[in-house]
Amino acid sequence: LKTRYKTKRLLYLDVDAHHGDGVMYGYYDDPAVLDIDFHESGNFLFPGTGFPDETGKEDAKGLKLNIPLPPATGDQAYLEAFREIVPETVRRFKPDVILVQCGTDGHLDDRLAHLRLTTNVYSEVIRVLHHLAHELCNGRLLLFGGGGYTLANVPRVWTIAFATLADKNLTDEIPALWAQQFRESADEEPPEKLHDKATTDTENTLKQVRSTVAELRQYLGNGPRSRTVQEENVVHR
Ligand SMILES: [Zn+2]
Repeated sequence: LKTRYKTKRLLYLDVDAHHGDGVMYGYYDDPAVLDIDFHESGNFLFPGTGFPDETGKEDAKGLKLNIPLPPATGDQAYLEAFREIVPETVRRFKPDVILVQCGTDGHLDDRLAHLRLTTNVYSEVIRVLHHLAHELCNGRLLLFGGGGYTLANVPRVWTIAFATLADKNLTDEIPALWAQQFRESADEEPPEKLHDKATTDTENTLKQVRSTVAELRQYLGNGPRSRTVQEENVVHR
């Protein structure tokens, strides 16, 4: 994108449960790349990197944002952190194009990682990014797949992500033919419904995630902005 299309400002948002270490270290000193990465904390999951103090270097200082989450983080704590950080940071950066790595391994039922996200997180993340893409960069958004280790989740999450971009509301129904093909090829029971019920979080998890966000703000050199967060929520409702 940078060489062929002369892209000057690129947002890479990574919601895969693993830290995107290759992208972050590969562009660690590149001021053209804002990298925001939500992932299960490296204290619990491969590759063990991606802490709030890793914010980039030289001209790119402050452009690599890591939000490590404790195991069992659900929709509530995740979306609170996402709304607190993402819209404000992206508006300030003003990207020319937005890239989203939409790994589904943060899902509740994933076999590998230990987060408790549901389809609600993915649809909300894509909805907000879609909105920001139209507001800031002529709708230029590239959506990528990523990790996902439970077969019943990956097609659901990506169907919902695609439908969100296409502004389509889908019903909960899983098509019978698809369910039959899934049963035959995956040798597993197909999912019963398209959407999940949102997960809430314990006070302890909410506290841990809030303190990670506060820590990140300290490394980035700006204080808490609770009023801004409320305003962002109003804008996006
Ligand atoms: Zn992953």
